[in-house]
Amino acid sequence: MAPSAVQDVDLTASAVQEKTSISTAPADSPKALDASQLITTLTSNPRSVPTEKEANAGLETVCTDHMVTATWSLSKGWAAPELKPYGPLSLLPTASCLHYATECFEGLKVYRGYDGKLRIFRPDRNAQRFRMSAARISLPVFEPEEVVKLMMALLSVDGPKWLPKDKPGSYLYIRPTLIGTDGQLGVQAPKAAMMYIMVTFMPRLDTPEGGLRLHTSPEDMVRAWVGGFGYAKVGANYGPSLMATQDARLRGFHQILWLYGPNGECTEAGASNFFVVWKRKDGKKELITAPLDDKLILDGVTRRSCLEIVREKLAGEIEVTERKYSIDEVLEADAEGRILEAFAAGTAYFVCAISQIHHRGQDVNIPMGREGAPGEITNKVKTWLGDIMYGRTQHEWGVVIPEKE
Ligand SMILES: *Cc1c(COP(=O)(O)O)cnc(C)c1O
Repeated sequence: MAPSAVQDVDLTASAVQEKTSISTAPADSPKALDASQLITTLTSNPRSVPTEKEANAGLETVCTDHMVTATWSLSKGWAAPELKPYGPLSLLPTASCLHYATECFEGLKVYRGYDGKLRIFRPDRNAQRFRMSAARISLPVFEPEEVVKLMMALLSVDGPKWLPKDKPGSYLYIRPTLIGTDGQLGVQAPKAAMMYIMVTFMPRLDTPEGGLRLHTSPEDMVRAWVGGFGYAKVGANYGPSLMATQDARLRGFHQILWLYGPNGECTEAGASNFFVVWKRKDGKKELITAPLDDKLILDGVTRRSCLEIVREKLAGEIEVTERKYSIDEVLEADAEGRILEAFAAGTAYFVCAISQIHHRGQDVNIPMGREGAPGEITNKVKTWLGDIMYGRTQHEWGVVIPEKE
């Protein structure tokens, strides 16, 4: 094979790799993102905190008092980040993100623990993924650690008020976002960008009545493809999926189970990773989920945590497998009575038991626990992870936010 043909295979992968491996810049080069330079301007108009119910009842997502912003330009690099009152952004109508989908985001939750402490879950993982997504769409990169510090700074200001100590078990959602702001309509990598981080309410999605019901994706639609960008949390992955999701909702389902390729490989459930617990033909119990290697699916922090914790705590009891598997294998296992459980895992849905999959006119009914509770394995995973998030178990994945008393 000619050398160029070899190189072409992973040109994107190596470009993203190279961008994300830049760490400390030389002194004369554009400035790196630096959380220690944070400029704080507190709001003079603090709002009252709504109840969870009130907050989630309106059409608009309710945010806390403050947000963090940081601007970047090609010539100057990152300006000092600012913590300031939450409010509208000002953008030119020509801004790159509004035309060419130069937008990526992250999503994680902040939890008020039963021990009174405020925690975020594995934020280093989200920050690394944020940088990878940014690199994939030619937005500026940064040290992931700086984004973690900025999130923590924002949460130490808004956390005590918006997630008070007398409400253990409650949470808010953190949405770091990065957009190309370049006011130049030419189709090119943005020369200006803005990162912003906000903290919002989000409804609880992990216990839909009767379990989560999935509808497989339409035959003529895929969410992501090999060589595409399904593995990056870029806005461009979501807009085009909304039509199928809306259609599934009208038919009484919660989310789409996205299939891929002529064999109908199971990939993800909505914007969550998808897991099946079944008995293999050899009788062995297995937890199975789609692999990361062909870059079709998002490397979910919840997914990774589910896999790691089951491998650790249920070793010998259940095999954990990341491989391609098709909807036909699921149908076959169902026909043979081998399906034990299924669940979706992601920040929004947390660990959510699935009760039904509808595929081309056929229903697969999946066992759940008693009285609509999650099945045994789903429930164990959910409990183990929930205990870390809410401080019932001390674990390095639960990162405590320092709060001013
Ligand atoms: C965000 C997301 C997930 C879940 O990732 P977490 O890190 O667990 O929140 C899974 N799939 C898609 C497509 C997503 O956008």
